Amino acid sequence: MIVVLRRAVIDGSLPYAEQLRRRADAIATACVHAGESPDASGALDVPIVMSSAFAFESAEQAAGAFTGDNDAWIYGRWGNPTVRALETKLAALEGCEAASATASGMAAIAGVVLSACSSGDHVVAPRSMYAESARLLRERLPKLGITTTFVDGTPDAYARAITPATRILYVETPSNPTLGVVDVRAIVALAKQLVPRPLVVVDGTFATPFAQTPLALGADLVVHSMTKGIGGHGDVIGGAIAGPRDLVDRVRETVVKGFGGVISPMSAWLVARGLRTFALRQERACATAAVLASHLASHPRIAVVHHPSLAAHPGHALAKEQMHAYGALLSFELRGDDALARGRKTLESLRVATHAVSLGDVRTLVVHPASTTHSTMPREARALAGIGDGLLRVSCGLESESELFADFDRALS
Ligand code: PLP
Repeated sequence: MIVVLRRAVIDGSLPYAEQLRRRADAIATACVHAGESPDASGALDVPIVMSSAFAFESAEQAAGAFTGDNDAWIYGRWGNPTVRALETKLAALEGCEAASATASGMAAIAGVVLSACSSGDHVVAPRSMYAESARLLRERLPKLGITTTFVDGTPDAYARAITPATRILYVETPSNPTLGVVDVRAIVALAKQLVPRPLVVVDGTFATPFAQTPLALGADLVVHSMTKGIGGHGDVIGGAIAGPRDLVDRVRETVVKGFGGVISPMSAWLVARGLRTFALRQERACATAAVLASHLASHPRIAVVHHPSLAAHPGHALAKEQMHAYGALLSFELRGDDALARGRKTLESLRVATHAVSLGDVRTLVVHPASTTHSTMPREARALAGIGDGLLRVSCGLESESELFADFDRALS
């Protein structure tokens, strides 16, 4: 199996474009070939195996498939060749033993928590995170007796929130939508001091495995929404968990087999197809994001731009130490008391970028989190997470850089 595991450091002595080119080069072969080999027909592409069940060659094989003595395919919710090919490719990119694809990013996140926690257990999570993940932890899991303390994302705050019942130190870095960077190594060091040792779980959706490989920093599991940069074309919903085989299998048993959060073979094929051009797409989108961030940072109508590439970003130094690249997402706050109205006007004036939720698409997507993606967060929680009413989030796509810049300049004026 092709496995990509590279020390994460953004080498400041290199031009960023060269750094991105090297990262793309490091993973390009795995993107194209990992998990793929011609089947009996010689077809180069992984077939889309649309079958609910698989025929057994003998009663003995059937029994052996159920006891685990052979790996014959059984039933689509338990495993599928197209899905397996995608999982192998993703595991290669994360540099780990195994990955399990799931129906969506939320299925992956719920599966991780539900496989590690029972009633009475506790999670520590950052305040700044995807709103639906926060809602899962804040509203849904307490009904099952699983509680969460939300903290500001610093290792000290995590340490203060830990209780004897803590089973997961949950991290989302960079965070949605404020691009906060959490020190994964420091959170792992905290976990290692505790008995029983909580799992360190990192939602790496914003970074994708192009820009960050949290398992190489010591995290136990990484979760992704593959709907985003991994699938990369805005045409599929999917999620994944990656890490050591025993942990991944435990989550797979819970969420895929047990709760039925299975990805369809068609969706898995679309994600794998997206991954073949992943290195090129991310190289380009990350380059655009860094240039756009610095362009917007000097715009008179903008109070602050959040992107880890900017020296003024509080997570800049940390990002340099734990990421391969700064990622393709940024957000910015408009200046002034009428920031909300101005933000809406800006969104409606964009012509090249698209006003839509989601991220990691070939299209540049812009959204107003406070009234859309993060509207389910209580107002105080939003304020504590740094999500102002004038914040706009931008996911850079693959359009012409100069046309995008002109689009933002025009919309902002
Ligand atoms: N994690 C993050 C950081 C996200 O932004 C999202 C969705 O936007 C998810 C998880 C959930 O992913 P999905 O929509 O595939 O369930």
